[in-house]
Amino acid sequence: GSAPALVQETAYRYRIDPIGRMRVPGVVFASPGLLPEVGGDQALQQVADVATLPGIVDASYAMPDVHWGYGFPIGGVAATDIAEGGVVSPGGVGFDISCGVRLYAADLDAADLAPRKEAVLDGLSRSTPRGMGKGAVWELSGTDQLAKVLASGARYAVEQGHGVQRDLDRCEDLGAVDDADPAGLSERAVNRGLHQLGSLGSGNHFLEVQVVDAVRDRVAAEAFGLRAGQVCVMIHCGSRGLGHQICTDHVRTMEQAMAGFGITVPDRQLACVPVDSDPGRAYLRAMAAAANYARANRQLLGQAAREVFERLTGAGLNLVYDISHNLAKVETHVVAGQSRRLCVHRKGATRALPPGHADLPADLRDLPDVGQPVLIPGSMGTASYVLTGVPGGPAFASTCHGAGRTLSRHQAARSVRGQELRTQLERRGVAVRGASWRGLAEEMPEAYKDIDAVVEAAEGAGLARAVARLVPVGVVKG
Ligand code: 5GP
Ligand code: MN
Ligand code: MN
Repeated sequence: GSAPALVQETAYRYRIDPIGRMRVPGVVFASPGLLPEVGGDQALQQVADVATLPGIVDASYAMPDVHWGYGFPIGGVAATDIAEGGVVSPGGVGFDISCGVRLYAADLDAADLAPRKEAVLDGLSRSTPRGMGKGAVWELSGTDQLAKVLASGARYAVEQGHGVQRDLDRCEDLGAVDDADPAGLSERAVNRGLHQLGSLGSGNHFLEVQVVDAVRDRVAAEAFGLRAGQVCVMIHCGSRGLGHQICTDHVRTMEQAMAGFGITVPDRQLACVPVDSDPGRAYLRAMAAAANYARANRQLLGQAAREVFERLTGAGLNLVYDISHNLAKVETHVVAGQSRRLCVHRKGATRALPPGHADLPADLRDLPDVGQPVLIPGSMGTASYVLTGVPGGPAFASTCHGAGRTLSRHQAARSVRGQELRTQLERRGVAVRGASWRGLAEEMPEAYKDIDAVVEAAEGAGLARAVARLVPVGVVKG
């Protein structure tokens, strides 16, 4: 069918009025230049389709980096009212459950890294298992040890000596969510989880060395531990095959179970069941296990990078924050004047808590103008950002998660050769350690939207505020 009509409400906000079975409007935060092309990808239709889900409140939201995804768009946020039959949908979380970003600030300035940069990148390349190949930082002893990772996430990794207390203090949920159920996972999910803990995966996942190029908010930057000219390490990865298998397993179950709850959806990929049901609770417990696996995964890769930095530069790495951008969370929000328990799906979207929120790290909680650190990768050839949550943000305290794709992997790989791209990047001062030439080409910076424009739209729409802009100096690509 034709793409849904957009009504401009403000400079950075568009509305899709409810038609057909939509229960709420769609709301797209974007500037005209960022809007998905009408008739181009199906992202706007997906925003409208999500608005039909049982129990959805407020609106089906799209962030400025929105693009097509499985069922829900990537860059989508949707909250359902649990007491009113609200549903949970694995497509609203995504296949890479708890994929997210972790940022470290080094006790090191760009000028001091320069003479050792190639050696550091070689060290990071060796310490970071990635690509399609086998290998991981941690070879688990068996299913008993995997169960501990699934129950306690980054906390277990730190307990075992792979990190420091600050790594947990500055991690979302202090390193682990507590309602994980390792026992409920399929044998395939467990088998995939055993051999991949401490590995990046492929393609879009990376470990990047960056430099703080500009500070936009001095107070927040200082509170986060960031200053101009400082070297940082950004890690983007998720729950690997384990999370993917959990998503596959539960989509299948829900496709079967949906009818029994009287639910029909406009797209099979939106399979869902009530949060307050056996299959709904089972999914959330399995999703929580994958979320803990993803945090342990980033913890182990971060610790391996820390050891490389200490050995080759003497500089420590201090965690700024670790945050997921593919997750559903049970949260309390005020909707139409009433406090409600909601299941907030953020799929390619980042939670952005306002200043003073109880779930902020303890050292940030009492600062009047500083919210949660929000980590926004751009591309390996442009910039990335640190933002912070603001008071009264729409969309249940959420913002974008990246620049967002404009070219498919296939289109990107057709328009540049990996070898050529590497030469271009190296010429611009970005050292490249890839896993495959094709994988590198798929990630060309031109495959993504303009990150500066995306962040401007997020700020203009009142979703978050910019704190610092980072530029890449070296990338280890999955
Ligand atoms: P996703 O989670 O949707 O796969 O990716 C999140 C975002 O990461 C993308 O929208 C893109 O903006 C960004 N990104 C992908 N590859 C790289 C990279 O190599 N370096 C940086 N800094 N960002 C990247
Ligand atoms: Mn991701
Ligand atoms: Mn991912």
